Amino acid sequence: MKTYLRIINFAKPLSSFLPQFVSTSFLSIIFGLINISLFFPLLNVIFEKVDPETLAKYTEKPEFSISGDYIISLFNHYMYISSELNGRFGTLIYVCIMVTTSVFLSNLFRYFSTITLSRVRVRVIKNLRERIFINISKLHVGYFTEQRKGDIISRIINDVQMVESSITNSLKVFFLDPPTVIAYFAFLIFLSPELTLFTFLILPLSGILITELAKRLKKSGMENQQSIGRINNILDETLGGMRVIKAFNAEKYIDKVFGSEIRKYARLNFSFEKKNQLASPMSEFLGVVAVSGILIYGGNLVINEGTMAPSAFLTYLGAFAMVLTPAKNISRSVTAMQRGIAAADRVFDLVDTPSEITNKEDALHLEAFKEDIRFENVSFAYAKEKVLKDINFTIKKGKMVALVGPSGGGKSTIADLIPRFYDPIEGEIKIDNISLRDYDYHSIRQHMGIVTQESILFNDTIFNNIAFGVDHATEEAVTRAASIANAHDFIMQTEHGYQSVIGERGSKLSGGQRQRISIARAVLKNPDILILDEATSALDSESEKLVQEALSNLMKNRTSLVIAHRLSTIQNADEILVIRDGEIVERGDHNSLIEKGGLYHKLISMQAV
Ligand code: ADP
Repeated sequence: MKTYLRIINFAKPLSSFLPQFVSTSFLSIIFGLINISLFFPLLNVIFEKVDPETLAKYTEKPEFSISGDYIISLFNHYMYISSELNGRFGTLIYVCIMVTTSVFLSNLFRYFSTITLSRVRVRVIKNLRERIFINISKLHVGYFTEQRKGDIISRIINDVQMVESSITNSLKVFFLDPPTVIAYFAFLIFLSPELTLFTFLILPLSGILITELAKRLKKSGMENQQSIGRINNILDETLGGMRVIKAFNAEKYIDKVFGSEIRKYARLNFSFEKKNQLASPMSEFLGVVAVSGILIYGGNLVINEGTMAPSAFLTYLGAFAMVLTPAKNISRSVTAMQRGIAAADRVFDLVDTPSEITNKEDALHLEAFKEDIRFENVSFAYAKEKVLKDINFTIKKGKMVALVGPSGGGKSTIADLIPRFYDPIEGEIKIDNISLRDYDYHSIRQHMGIVTQESILFNDTIFNNIAFGVDHATEEAVTRAASIANAHDFIMQTEHGYQSVIGERGSKLSGGQRQRISIARAVLKNPDILILDEATSALDSESEKLVQEALSNLMKNRTSLVIAHRLSTIQNADEILVIRDGEIVERGDHNSLIEKGGLYHKLISMQAV
């Protein structure tokens, strides 16, 4: 229930739809009831039960007043006129016209009220999606590697869709159907309190059975969604790693993994469907059982006891049939809602996940970077095992520090700690002698440019990719940045120049071109501090030269931390740190490290071969 109210909360402000909804549903119910009441005179006319003496009481047009009596009298008055003018057949036509009119009006208002509900649904889903996105973009970087990407996508797409479809039903079921059911029951009581009491006794029986079924459905629905999440993950991994899978002839392995999850899903889905499909036949059967009971009981009132008129009994049955549809809707939607609420819980889990990296209340704003960045006894772990142990080093303003060493040593992790993507578990990282935790992290990142191994480009124009994150970048500034990054020439050769759209993840560009756009982006941002995860090894030598040159241009007069893959590029670094197994095992400049003849020397000689 709490989850449900929370979903409905996304429809705020209520004032924008509630009055309209209440008035249209009220009118729809009223005309629906009028509809049913017209059965009464209709049956009387057909069965020759119209009593001329009774009608004769309505020769005069009644005086206007707002009351049921007035409406009945007015109706009878016109019925009298029609019967006078055209006899029984005329009365039939009159009653039919009235029925048609009230059916039309009742459905018209019903349409308006459901449209209002649709507006609510669309607004809820829009707001929900926005809310999820706002939270996701606020979450710390670590969240996206810990939690599987496929699962997040599945929550945003499948679960939100599930909420959407179940909410369509549930809004109607919560707001429109109960008043309808109540109004019809009131009418039934009016027709025969005795028969209605009987009906009340047998209906809850079916209710209990259906609630039990709904409980089981909820559990089943959740397992279903989890399985879909896992399938998404496998798909994501498989499609992303198709090259590797094929190269290792691992199709069989992956088929096995995928097949087993698909079979599991099929099993869960079938078990869910068995329960889901049971709801409708079960409630129909129980409905018929109830109707038979009513037929016997009511028939007894009409045939044996004579306390109920046949036309009243038939009208009763008609009204009862009408109440069954919304009542059945309620029971059916309870099952759909269970599934929707399970999905909503998963969505809210995502919405409620707090970011592990947050600003202190009185966080400082880093106005200008003045002195240095210092790692003081920093240790870090993603999970239990420490991947960085007691790291100490300083990058002075304007200097370049390079990280080298075997892969998996912890170089990228060190680089990720500087923009505070993660917090160290021990020790401090300080900028100008103040801990990173004391700064507003936006203000730290403002001063940093990051160029990673894999250039992250978006399916947008080249211009927007370079101007990414910089508000109101001028064309001149973007062009200048591109020239410094050796990118201007190739950009001009593309079909629409800076306005060319680069395709998903920059797929229309070569690796070197993507790198240079990333570099242009960093140039435009003009940061004090640069973090480079150099990746020139995957490029051909021509591209490499261009990218290397672009990087040198970018690094001029800046403070930089460079993760070097090609050791030739960092020989003039002010300090080189050799990282292995989370520790600094050697440090110094190129010459002193070579002289030492340790790991660095070994790495250099390996690359020289
Ligand atoms: P390098 O950049 O030197 O290759 P990394 O900093 O990427 O090394 O990795 C250091 C260690 O941390 C490795 O053992 C790696 O498996 C682990 N690691 C890296 N990223 C994550 C992550 N997001 N979650 C868990 N472990 C990670």
